[in-house]
Amino acid sequence: MESDKGKSSVEKYRLKQLVLELSKKRGRGTELISLYIPPGKPIHEVINALREEWGTASNIKSDTTRTHVQDALVKTMQRLKLYKKTPENGLVIFCGALPTNGLGSETIFLYEIVPIKPVQTYLYRCDDHFHTEILQEMLKEETLIGIISIDTSEAGLGLLYGDRVEVAEVLTSGISGKHRAGGQSARRFERLREMEVNDFFHRVGRHATKLFLEENRVSKLIVSGPGPTKDDFLKGEYLHYQLRDKIVAVIDTSYAGEEGIRETVMKAEKVLEDLRLVEEIKLVQNFLREVTKEDGLAVYGINAVESSLNQGNVDTIIVVEDINIITLRVKCKYCGREIIEYITRDEYIKRKQEILASACEGCQRLDYEVEEEDYIEYIARKADLVGARVEVISSKTESGIMLKNFGGIGAILRYRPRT
Ligand SMILES: [Zn+2]
Repeated sequence: MESDKGKSSVEKYRLKQLVLELSKKRGRGTELISLYIPPGKPIHEVINALREEWGTASNIKSDTTRTHVQDALVKTMQRLKLYKKTPENGLVIFCGALPTNGLGSETIFLYEIVPIKPVQTYLYRCDDHFHTEILQEMLKEETLIGIISIDTSEAGLGLLYGDRVEVAEVLTSGISGKHRAGGQSARRFERLREMEVNDFFHRVGRHATKLFLEENRVSKLIVSGPGPTKDDFLKGEYLHYQLRDKIVAVIDTSYAGEEGIRETVMKAEKVLEDLRLVEEIKLVQNFLREVTKEDGLAVYGINAVESSLNQGNVDTIIVVEDINIITLRVKCKYCGREIIEYITRDEYIKRKQEILASACEGCQRLDYEVEEEDYIEYIARKADLVGARVEVISSKTESGIMLKNFGGIGAILRYRPRT
């Protein structure tokens, strides 16, 4: 978590986009290299291992594949030599021959990623695709928090992602109320009840191990519930020791189970202050406040944000991660006339062809320079020039959906422009 704090939402967005893009790439043969280096592994050991792989690769029958693999290995080794030591979180490299313009046009590309969390195990793979799964997992579990909300009648197990909460399981104990049946001795009743509670706690512990350590890997755990039950549960060491180490808060709630999980998220805000979900809610609320004020400091929509940026009058931009727009810049090679359009991904190819097929309005000729850029990248670059901050907001949350009603993008201004 700590190493992650300095990362801006734009950097994370970039990393997500890159990983997504890499996951789709396919090699001509088994010739794309994936390399995961954990922090403890010395660079020279990795280079030696790759040198051996280079030798082994000489047995590959296909000339093209052999050349591609060996070239990729050489390029990777050259890059590694630039490192004096392995970075703090380790290093991930993807390298291989990728087509630039159809079959036979392959060029060796190298992508180097310093991960947001430490790489756990060394991995070298040569395959027809890049092994991005480990990085994708890292991005997913980066802010995953487990919640157990427990009393003697039920326990809810929940997963809190950076931007949403999911009730994964509700276990019921079947333990009857506090009153014993007639004729039963008080001691016998107590003993039976203790045994039942003990069994229930063990069951909750087992399910927690499965959900929080095996099926998912939570980085933190919060335990909640009404009364002292949760404390008894924790004292009894029913939880796996690895989970006990992850507990960041024990919170009193009025309910357990599903209700308890939701209550926990609300009450845990202090603990979760660094959690993106809370941050995003605040950003969007602030934006909405300014929008509804009579002379508030907010604008929204691509065009309004663009013109405020051009005036250098933007403090913060908030934009939904799936705005799915490409910025297309077309410039006439003769007269220099320039068109910039913001086009949704769905309409992109069609619209681009339309523009490129029509003669320049300035000089009637038809020869253009074309530049295209992901809209969020574009806006981040522009904002950087005027010192504005960009926050990429998840699209699945209530805040994100709210922002989508405003065209998916809004900005808080530095001052109220004169109208
Ligand atoms: Zn022209």
